Amino acid sequence: MEYTNIAYVISAICFIMGIKMLSHPKSARKGNSIAAIGMLIAIIATLIHPDNYLENGKPLISFQLISIGVVIGAIIGGFAATKVEMTQMPQLVAIFNGFGGGASALIASAEFYTQYNQNPTNFMLVTIILSVVIGTLTLTGSFIAFGKLQGFISGKPITYPAQQLLNGIMVLILIVLGNLIVSNSIELNYFYGILAISAILGITLTIPIGGADMPVVISLLNSYSGVAAAATGFVLMNNALIISGALVGASGLILTQIMCKGMNRSLTNVIFGAVGGDYSNASDKTQELNIKSYSTEEAAMIFEASEKVIVVPGYGLAVAQAQHAVREVAEWLETQGKQVLYAIHPVAGRMPGHMNVLLAEANIPYEQLKDLDEINPEFEDCDVALILGANDVVNPAARHDQSSPIYGMPILNVDKARTVIINKRSMNPGFAGIQNELFGYDNSIMVFGDAKDMLGQLMSDLKEL
Ligand code: NDP
Repeated sequence: MEYTNIAYVISAICFIMGIKMLSHPKSARKGNSIAAIGMLIAIIATLIHPDNYLENGKPLISFQLISIGVVIGAIIGGFAATKVEMTQMPQLVAIFNGFGGGASALIASAEFYTQYNQNPTNFMLVTIILSVVIGTLTLTGSFIAFGKLQGFISGKPITYPAQQLLNGIMVLILIVLGNLIVSNSIELNYFYGILAISAILGITLTIPIGGADMPVVISLLNSYSGVAAAATGFVLMNNALIISGALVGASGLILTQIMCKGMNRSLTNVIFGAVGGDYSNASDKTQELNIKSYSTEEAAMIFEASEKVIVVPGYGLAVAQAQHAVREVAEWLETQGKQVLYAIHPVAGRMPGHMNVLLAEANIPYEQLKDLDEINPEFEDCDVALILGANDVVNPAARHDQSSPIYGMPILNVDKARTVIINKRSMNPGFAGIQNELFGYDNSIMVFGDAKDMLGQLMSDLKEL
């Protein structure tokens, strides 16, 4: 027993070190491995726990079944990690969160079936109910988030009359049913009711949230999956599960706050399912924009005359896998005596830290990556802001257009640069589904094309000058 707890403390240290190291791209990979080792230690310690064996040494658990589960899980996890595109990572994270919540709910349900006719303590019942409620709503909510991100369900907010009231009534019924189970009769039907209502609540809490708010929802569901795991840890009285669940819950909540700040959404708004904007009303202003389309050759001349360049990567850079191409162009500009910085918006791309990971893969020096607060004052004395597949995070409408779904979201003030060079393939909008007035600004020029192709062409044009 003591050895198990020592092993759990070691795994907890690994988890904490892992999370700390994940906060910097340079140490992130190592941090991930350390946390994985921590989890392996916790699993082995749990499996060899004396409670799992009879006095004659025979195991009470089926190692055969566990091995089958491990092999199936490893194949699915390995396949997903290698095959899923970086751009589909948020969907994968959403599914993983859902499975985490589902696993907690299943374990707690199994414990309920074992315990319900054996006079369980109130503490046990409360933790089981919490685990089932949070775990189940995380499962269904995560699958709705997955559907929205994958395009299976409309990214627009789905609303209906008295939505918040109905959600409130469901929460009330959950409290009543939970109270009935804890205080007098342990009825299986009450338990099924809790399961069903939690599943519906997960759906109804997630569907009204608009596409542009999805980053916040994903990190919030991540946090919920941790809380569900911690509650299951209390059900099983397993310290490793309590610690790891609490760590996921807390770090998920911190991430949620960072994303809220990035999107300028209040946490209470998100928790109570306040809806994102209805983008169908956002006017298409493409016709009114005065677009200036330049060739890479013309763009190269602007770069040649510049001294300071700020690169603004966005989702399109990840789609094009142009991270190496941008590093080559930036290195060339530096050899020509120009200063190059990268502006990283917290919600650029499709997952938290997406741009950091992408640029780190191309070995772009971390010192050149500047976050929103750090880089925004730099645009005023910058000659060229080079936008690569970014759209929503540079849309000035967020500053002044109250009808815009992204109104209030802090943006990168690229329009303050002397020249803004925007690369994308067409006039299609970004994730929020709205046009970007920046493209028609006097100091803006468009260089159309796939980011990787455009950068390759720009590179040869720069060399020819
Ligand atoms: P956007 O989605 O706003 O815009 C991306 C742009 O990239 C598109 O307009 C597209 O235009 C262009 N693009 C696509 N493919 C290519 C390509 N091969 N080459 C060049 N350009 C390309 O991205 P941002 O990064 O600016 O903003 C992120 C958005 O995603 C925000 O709205 C955020 O809320 C949301 N989001 C963020 C998450 C996160 O955690 N970071 C999670 C979920 C959503 P075109 O088709 O014309 O090329």
